[in-house]
Amino acid sequence: MRGPIVHYTPADFPQGINANGAIVFIDRDGVLNVGKSTYINNPSELEILNGSPKAIGDLRRAGFRTCIVTNQSPLMRGLWDENELFLIHQSLREKFLESDNDAKFDIIITCPHRQRDHCSCRKPNPGMLRLGDSILRTKGVLIAHDNQSIIELDIDHPKVNWWNDKVAPKHQLDTMIGDRNSDMGAGWAIGARLFKVPDDVGISFAIERILDKDDSGDRFDPIR
Ligand SMILES: [Mg+2]
Repeated sequence: MRGPIVHYTPADFPQGINANGAIVFIDRDGVLNVGKSTYINNPSELEILNGSPKAIGDLRRAGFRTCIVTNQSPLMRGLWDENELFLIHQSLREKFLESDNDAKFDIIITCPHRQRDHCSCRKPNPGMLRLGDSILRTKGVLIAHDNQSIIELDIDHPKVNWWNDKVAPKHQLDTMIGDRNSDMGAGWAIGARLFKVPDDVGISFAIERILDKDDSGDRFDPIR
């Protein structure tokens, strides 16, 4: 079975800003753009939530790396293919930059699977977050040019024990932002700070809290 689809476009920080060492993992639908039960099937269906470009710009201005992690089962359902996905994400990037010069994403990772495919990347599994972490933090693991897809096989992902305590994050400010419990679960599994936002408001709902280094995020129990 194929792995997640990675669009790796490591981005510069705004002038005078250095990386703070942390990664913000961001769900897409209901966080950056309006989600639809019938999916986002082409760029014309992409409706950016108010304030989300500025929120991403604010994260970059604070030195965060940014990694979108999105479940898109229409790929394995055969509704559309990787080219359509690329066009949607190209449009997303353009719309964000139109609103805020700093609103850049280092990586967009997409899980193409359905629940019945039993992959390790579909959230709440943390496979996409672990992959994003390894790309951004381990030099030389994966090298790609702009807009090139990397197929990473689903191997060697330790199973998550949801009954354990939350693990320690790689960086204290590693963060997961999503609108569903499956997003919270994936972030929980890597020890990230968790912020759940309403899907009709998106990331701007929580951006002040996310930027607050002393805010440890929402409480979440994956087995409840
Ligand atoms: Mg969502």
